[in-house]
Amino acid sequence: MQAKNRVIFGFIEEFCPGELAEEWDNCGLQVGDPERPVSRVLLALDMDREVLSEALEKGAGLVVTHHPLLLKGARQFREDRPPGRLLAGIIRAGITVYAAHTNLDSAARGVSQALAEKLDLAEIRVLRPGGERFLKLAVFVPPDHTDAVREALARAGAGWIGNYSECTFMTGGTGTFRPLEGASPFIGRVGGLEKVEETRLETILPARLAGRAVKAMLTAHPYEEVAYDLYPLENRPGRTGAGRVGRLETPLTLKEFALRVKEALGLPAVRYGGREDGEVRKVAVCGGSGGDFWPLALDGGADVLVTGDIGYHAARDMLASGLCFVDAGHYGTERVVLEPLAAYLRERCRGAGLEVEVLVSSAAGDPFVNL
Ligand SMILES: [Zn+2]
Repeated sequence: MQAKNRVIFGFIEEFCPGELAEEWDNCGLQVGDPERPVSRVLLALDMDREVLSEALEKGAGLVVTHHPLLLKGARQFREDRPPGRLLAGIIRAGITVYAAHTNLDSAARGVSQALAEKLDLAEIRVLRPGGERFLKLAVFVPPDHTDAVREALARAGAGWIGNYSECTFMTGGTGTFRPLEGASPFIGRVGGLEKVEETRLETILPARLAGRAVKAMLTAHPYEEVAYDLYPLENRPGRTGAGRVGRLETPLTLKEFALRVKEALGLPAVRYGGREDGEVRKVAVCGGSGGDFWPLALDGGADVLVTGDIGYHAARDMLASGLCFVDAGHYGTERVVLEPLAAYLRERCRGAGLEVEVLVSSAAGDPFVNL
């Protein structure tokens, strides 16, 4: 079956929900037509002339980038200057560009998670949890219908906590109600007070799935009027948020660890700061520009922070605080997300019976060259 661009957007939105994006960001559709059919998708960190040529060459009608094409509110697009020229080229070629930026950074399987996994960290946790809002849903169900309602909620995406699905809690009790004139009750009769055995079934769900979950719950529930509560949670039980921290299975010296980063990320060079024989056990990572992130890394008990774009002053501050760092570059610490995202999209398309090929760009490289 052929897919449309908007179906792929929906899959990406499931991987990295838009609500995880920072307020200043411009994620989502950048240019193009959501209704256009697509058979080949190209993933890249940035959209530039090289990636546009690659998309044309490979017949990719949709390019998904990490960095938005349009970020700073441009007031004009001049074809005699690079941004306008690129945009005109994209539009003339009929290519659609979609960006997943800070939402992809913070996603459960996003940039920093991919970086932590690439470095083989154990016991990975989110350094600054946040982003996704969660709700508690409690519904009162006749005991012999609890399984049907519970299963419907699970199918709608409720009840996930970490690596566990179908997490619910059930308590028995007595419900009361009096059906009034005009009601056609599942149990009892109009005018009479009813006391019935009911189960309070409760579960947790991401706020973005509330509509879908409530609809599924109402469909599976036998009552005409379903009593349920939906309330916001202060805790963030998800695995989303900025940065990750984890442990090395075997401690390394800082120099050995810096070499491991260089090899694991397939980079020609990395820069590090700190005593080369200092011991590294706990590692904080943040893909992209994470130099200002260092106080969080320190609070998280990390010995070293791996990120890109570390500035001179941040580097000095880290060393003064006893935190080492490895600067593996913005490009080097972000491109690790492209393969996991491609694998997810391939799987998702295959599962939906869509004939879509997902490619990772080979044209876009690091703008910096090491001598
Ligand atoms: Zn970036």
